[in-house]
Amino acid sequence: MAAEEDNLDQLEEYVDPAEAEAGEAGKSAGVQGSYAGAQACSFRDMLLKDELQRAIGDAGFEHPSEVQQNAIPFAMVGNDMIVQAKSGMGKTAVFVIATLQQIEVEADDKHVDTLVLCHSREVAYQISREFERFSKYMPDVSVGVVYGGVNISAHKKMMKENCPNILVGTPGRILHLMNEKVLSLDKLKRFVLDECDNLLEVALDIRRQVQEIFKKTPREKQTMMYSATISEDARSICRKMSRNAEEIFIDDNQLTLHGLQQHYVTLGEKDKIKRLTDLLDDLEFNQVVIFVRTRQRAAALNAMLIKCAFPSMCIHPKLSQKKRLERYKSFKENSCRILVATSLFGRGVDLERVNIVINFDMSGNSNEYFHRVGRAGRFGTKGLAITFLANDKDREVMEEVQSRFEVGITELPSTVDSSAYMAN
Ligand code: ADP
Repeated sequence: MAAEEDNLDQLEEYVDPAEAEAGEAGKSAGVQGSYAGAQACSFRDMLLKDELQRAIGDAGFEHPSEVQQNAIPFAMVGNDMIVQAKSGMGKTAVFVIATLQQIEVEADDKHVDTLVLCHSREVAYQISREFERFSKYMPDVSVGVVYGGVNISAHKKMMKENCPNILVGTPGRILHLMNEKVLSLDKLKRFVLDECDNLLEVALDIRRQVQEIFKKTPREKQTMMYSATISEDARSICRKMSRNAEEIFIDDNQLTLHGLQQHYVTLGEKDKIKRLTDLLDDLEFNQVVIFVRTRQRAAALNAMLIKCAFPSMCIHPKLSQKKRLERYKSFKENSCRILVATSLFGRGVDLERVNIVINFDMSGNSNEYFHRVGRAGRFGTKGLAITFLANDKDREVMEEVQSRFEVGITELPSTVDSSAYMAN
């Protein structure tokens, strides 16, 4: 595996590094986040291309969410964008729709028009599927996805023989393909960073890779950066990479997800497993994600749950790429109801049937907490998040979450009414 890809693995391996501690939340633009309170504006009002409008209708999107209402009109006319909105508010569709609205390619155009960088392989795959879903009536537009951990020869072949117009990938693999001279960004028109704070702030190596890629893009292009959390530091890096960017910050200091009930349980480390299995027995749910600190703990907890006859699977960065994607897909398709995961899975992954998140191990910082619990209650649906607090550090992070974002997180009551977190 190439050195750059090792770097990516380092990012994926990291478990809540101190660097991820974000500073004070930036100032909110004052817009309160909501999901579909979009009576004032519909996708139709955006005057999108017919083929795009039809695909949006097929996807069942009726009203744009707050961030979509605020950001799409700017993004679709080529503005640079720095966009923050809570997890699950539909940020992906903002850059997907803005890109497809603007893209002008013909069937024999074999160059990369739009490059999307993201931090994990599952997210890369998920984004490429969104581009495919919304470009279904645009037969000339082609979409490709590349990431490390799989043999590079298939990616090289794709770039040489069938270069896609929209390329989604992780930074290590993209750089590798550029260094091998099979990927050129000379004609790039759009450059997108998803979970931009993670790409620019968390790990220095990744930031260097992103900057190296960025330097090889043309000056004239649209740069768009998105995340649920963008600290002041990340924001200033984003500004340096863009020109007169439209900055849309929705609920930056109020990351509470509507419909998401959040509770904590104070307990000793040794009591966690018993408490977890009791909860899994007692609570009703469609799917649940359980977050743990390390991949060893993920594997061990998963094995223990299976032994107790719980329908569980686990995902962590050390699995082969093939296995990871298979497991991600099968969980998304509801083949299994319990997923044990490391923080890697805390960001960006869209799993619409998940209604409970359990932090078996508390995250190392408040940002990660919000990304993790955002896996439940996607797009305004209901959800429940339960966090185990086993030591002083856990309690400190919980205090930081509460003070930074003013969310009401209370002790887990003895019974929780399932109608409070299950869709009707
Ligand atoms: P984010 O990137 O903000 O975390 P996603 O883009 O992953 O959120 O969107 C979360 C979920 O909401 C996805 O399943 C997506 O298909 C769905 N979604 C996005 N926009 C809309 C909309 N306008 N109407 C209905 N569902 C939507």
